[in-house]
Amino acid sequence: MKEGKLVIFSAPSGAGKTTIVHRLLRKMPELEFSISATTRQPRGDEQHGKDYYFISKEEFLHRIAKKQFVEFEEVYTGTFYGTLRTEIERIWQTGKTVIFDIDVEGGMHLKRKYQHQALAIFVQPPSLEVLIERLTGRGTDSTEKLQERFAKAEKELNYAPQFDIILKNYDLETACKEAEDLVKNFISLPAP
Ligand code: 5GP
Repeated sequence: MKEGKLVIFSAPSGAGKTTIVHRLLRKMPELEFSISATTRQPRGDEQHGKDYYFISKEEFLHRIAKKQFVEFEEVYTGTFYGTLRTEIERIWQTGKTVIFDIDVEGGMHLKRKYQHQALAIFVQPPSLEVLIERLTGRGTDSTEKLQERFAKAEKELNYAPQFDIILKNYDLETACKEAEDLVKNFISLPAP
């Protein structure tokens, strides 16, 4: 199978990476979203096969044993997220570039694996305080889950220098425009 390129957007939860990724997907038909598998429950109007593949823990563990994941993490205690090899292949078969919205460790993992085939972008929020405000404002998580998200976010901010690019998301419009330029430039480069 002919391999293609990958664009990885990683950030602590609440930094705005999902919004940026969705905007890029609307503007750039040459990109396709890598739908992750997760054991968490759908939130709001999230749909199976669009936002995530929502699967049981049993199925997730079975797929780990079958080595079907390119990367996976227990992102929060008892909650798994992972990228299926078949998902990347499915997108490459269409001739498109895969775009990821993935946690920081997962992003570093993919970058290590795919090296020059991948552009790894770290989305940086203005501050930890702003991040905490945004996460709290969502109103979708329990206090306990929120505490875990805050602790993880604080740790993840330190990994930014390991990415190809640090994209400051202080103003959403500016960040989206910068993201678009970066991704367009990366796609236009000859394949490594
Ligand atoms: P949420 O529950 O808010 O949708 O996602 C929680 C975190 O898991 C986010 O940082 C999200 O980007 C990350 N995530 C989503 N899919 C994957 C994946 O396939 N692998 C990893 N490692 N993290 C993921």
